[in-house]
Amino acid sequence: MSPWLTRHRAPTLAFSTALWRLHWQRAAAMVLAALTLTGAAAISHAADDAQPPLNLQQVSPHGYFVEGLTQLGSPQNQNFISNAGFVVTPAGVVVIDALGSPRLAERLLAAIARVTDQPVTDVIVTHYHADHIYGLQVFQRRGARIVAHRGAREYLQSETAHLRLEASRTDLAPWIDAGTRLVPADEWVDGPVRLQRGGITFEIDHVGPSHTPEDLTVFVPSERLLFAGDLFFNGRLPFVGKADSSQWIRSLDQVLARDTAVVVPGHGPASRDPARDIGMTRDYLHHLRESMGKAVDDFVPFEEAYTATDWSAFEHMPMFGPANRMNAYNTYLLMEEEALGRQAPSR
Ligand SMILES: [Zn+2]
Repeated sequence: MSPWLTRHRAPTLAFSTALWRLHWQRAAAMVLAALTLTGAAAISHAADDAQPPLNLQQVSPHGYFVEGLTQLGSPQNQNFISNAGFVVTPAGVVVIDALGSPRLAERLLAAIARVTDQPVTDVIVTHYHADHIYGLQVFQRRGARIVAHRGAREYLQSETAHLRLEASRTDLAPWIDAGTRLVPADEWVDGPVRLQRGGITFEIDHVGPSHTPEDLTVFVPSERLLFAGDLFFNGRLPFVGKADSSQWIRSLDQVLARDTAVVVPGHGPASRDPARDIGMTRDYLHHLRESMGKAVDDFVPFEEAYTATDWSAFEHMPMFGPANRMNAYNTYLLMEEEALGRQAPSR
């Protein structure tokens, strides 16, 4: 997935450029690998095969999701780098997150239509990062009601959001184009909301500010199914960005306290062993906070602290290369802020 290219919290320009280069190198390598592996067959079906497969996975009696690729967003993958889920009820389909381009949202609708005749009545947005929302307009046009947390409104009105969309129109063309819009929610929620559809209850909870200010989780008790959004990156390193990792850890503990059979993350495969899998995201956040926090307390400069830190427990994980250094740096800045907060005179 490509937080670095499609997310709103852009890193420095130099870093973006470096990531761009990485991105194109990877894209080129992927194309080359695909051609080498599949040869002439791939070329004869090029038009169809060019689309990344959108395979539905059923995770509970009425719950499904599609798993985004562990890649950076690119024209080749239509920005299919995040997950989206849905639950079929007798009174309509409730979708969780809208994927990273209108084209993907249309493909998700087609996949839903293969499971049920019910229309999509609601789309719950776990957070407003680009890779989860650029498909929203497709659902809205079909009459679905968009539900999200109020905390996203500031971002939607920000210059950053508009600049990011503008950049995506180039970076992710033709999938993101002049017709792609930022879609606000039809219903902004504040706190916990219980949504009933066709006798199925959806417990929508605000768990931010964690990964973003507006993080929501969606729990379906009758299915023991939880959609965790980007609180949870399964089997890979998370993108930390400007997250509040302390609240994030508390939110993960809340998620773990629930009686779940399966948890669908924002990225990566569904987990049937949340204690183990979510534990890994949590351990990583702890490690970042502990190592960078100690460096800040001891006045050790970032470079030195980064080099001295033992990353061996995490360096085998996918996305370590592109993500870890930036995660560590952002955590270092956060720990500085927290340290200053501790020293500030009480008001
Ligand atoms: Zn994401």
